[in-house]
Amino acid sequence: MEKRFVYADNAATTKVYPEVVEEMLPYFTEVFGNPSSLHHVGQQAKKALDSARARIADVIGAAPEEIFFTSCGTESDNWAIRGASAVYARVNKIEKPHIITTKIEHHAVLHTFKALENSGYEVTYVDVDENGKVSPEAIVSAIRDNTCLITVMLANNEMGTIEPVADIVKAVKAVRNIPFLTDAVQAVGNIPVNVKDLGVDMLSFSGHKIHAPKGVGCLYIKKGTRLKNLIEGGGQEKGKRAGTEGLANIMGMAKALEISRDRMGEAKELAAKRDRLIKGITSLPDTYLTGHPTDRLPGNASFVFKGIEGESLLFLLSAAGICGSTGSACSSASLEPSHVLTSMGIPVEICHGSLRLSICYETTDEDIDYMIENVKKVVERLRMMSPIYN
Ligand SMILES: *Cc1c(COP(=O)(O)O)cnc(C)c1O
Repeated sequence: MEKRFVYADNAATTKVYPEVVEEMLPYFTEVFGNPSSLHHVGQQAKKALDSARARIADVIGAAPEEIFFTSCGTESDNWAIRGASAVYARVNKIEKPHIITTKIEHHAVLHTFKALENSGYEVTYVDVDENGKVSPEAIVSAIRDNTCLITVMLANNEMGTIEPVADIVKAVKAVRNIPFLTDAVQAVGNIPVNVKDLGVDMLSFSGHKIHAPKGVGCLYIKKGTRLKNLIEGGGQEKGKRAGTEGLANIMGMAKALEISRDRMGEAKELAAKRDRLIKGITSLPDTYLTGHPTDRLPGNASFVFKGIEGESLLFLLSAAGICGSTGSACSSASLEPSHVLTSMGIPVEICHGSLRLSICYETTDEDIDYMIENVKKVVERLRMMSPIYN
């Protein structure tokens, strides 16, 4: 098979759609005003900003005044966790706040929890099952009198499992009205997401994961949910997250979100390609799919291979033109296996041989064939050289 370039790391970041670039261009040189300026150039920008807010709100089932722009998904997660737990603790006179999340969250959530723990919060990390699923009962049984915030991701970035967030929220709210955040960075753009159906108080997502540019994110904050201000300054984002808005990026994110809604019908074909990829690769011996077999993101195929290192695998695949990703972070000199894979009960040694291939609508059938063939070739080659595989 002739060498190809196959980008299968869409869970890390995506290529910006040409229509998105086109949407953005006027906001660099024509409608370049500051939305806070009173003159007509500023007011033109303000009008565009308002329209983007309304367009984004429309796609996710929110009201425009519930949409807040940030710089990325990480910022949205940090703000929601810190901001909502602080106000809830103050209003309810809770001296030592307790917050709940799961063991499989993105570092944007886990490291924020760690920082809050270091500053005196109590934290609970709830377990998942072997498919990476979080159960509503497990979350509810973690609730204490001093619980000030709960956050569960909508879809996992490493192994693609989709979480029953609507059921979890329903179960939580039956106990008490504790602020609830879902990190929907991987879900938005890939599966239908509606804040009303989910019942969440806050929802975060990011531009660069949905074929919009890097440097822009969003936090949905349900009317009535109170958050501490994130950044003090001008009156932008109702004075809660000051700083002149990145209008071009915001316009791009609105466009990308609309495109993903309009193309949602293609998700079935995408999932069929994903399943063919999974079937092809798991036909190798000592090779396992990670995450839920069916309840997973349409573009996520993730595996563990016995007897090899994920990094060597990536290196050889990259030489063959294939861009994937591994959960094990050996490069950080820590030799830490992925917290997501170990929390599903996968043995540590196998976790080191992990591979995630995240495809998108652009991925062709030929790309799938090429990946299957090359992953097989590379895995067999690495196992032949491996001192631990026989
Ligand atoms: C990428 C990602 C983030 C972080 O978003 P950035 O915009 O890169 O900061 C947070 N959560 C999940 C699940 C992600 O996949």
